[in-house]
Amino acid sequence: MHLKSLTLKGFKSFASSTTLRFEPGITCVVGPNGSGKSNVLDALAWVMGEQGAKALRGGKMEDVIFAGTAGRQPLGRAEVTLTVDNSDGALPIDYTEVSITRRMFRDGASEYEINGNSCRLLDIQELLSDSGIGREMHVIVGQGQLADILQAKPEERRAFVEEAAGVLKHRKRKEKALRK
Ligand code: ATP
Ligand code: MG
Repeated sequence: MHLKSLTLKGFKSFASSTTLRFEPGITCVVGPNGSGKSNVLDALAWVMGEQGAKALRGGKMEDVIFAGTAGRQPLGRAEVTLTVDNSDGALPIDYTEVSITRRMFRDGASEYEINGNSCRLLDIQELLSDSGIGREMHVIVGQGQLADILQAKPEERRAFVEEAAGVLKHRKRKEKALRK
């Protein structure tokens, strides 16, 4: 499975529809300060279901919607579509290509779609949960987070490693079962 493309429309600084295409392997995004590199990563986290405004570097969720510039009116909604190549079947769904869309309006209403069919956030979370990507996975290491990992206590750092290895989920289930 690999990311094929990411389309941002009205998301943060990306007022006009912008599509980034990715090839298998490593992708570098380069550009001057403030040009929107981190906004691209925010869009990726957001479309995968991120619910915390702070994690998206904003004060409230509405901050993801294009707020306008001197020459351009604010927009009423933000929309991001992530397309992944699923020819290896890593996502438990019968499509070789899977698109996930998240849309949000200024009144706070949200819409989610899988391959163009409207769905719940939960459906997206479940689709991604065993794939190694998704909201709670540390697949996105933000600016500053690297320092947190390096300065973490050994047991905290162990949690990062366990999470990456897919062990944490089972440990949490075990702890829950033992409490009962
Ligand atoms: P650096 O190299 O400093 O990390 P960057 O390329 O990561 O920079 P970003 O943080 O992605 O830059 O982009 C910041 C820009 O996005 C700022 O100019 C900010 O005004 C703009 N921006 C953020 N949210 C919105 C919004 N809702 N509407 C319009 N512009 C926004
Ligand atoms: Mg940045």
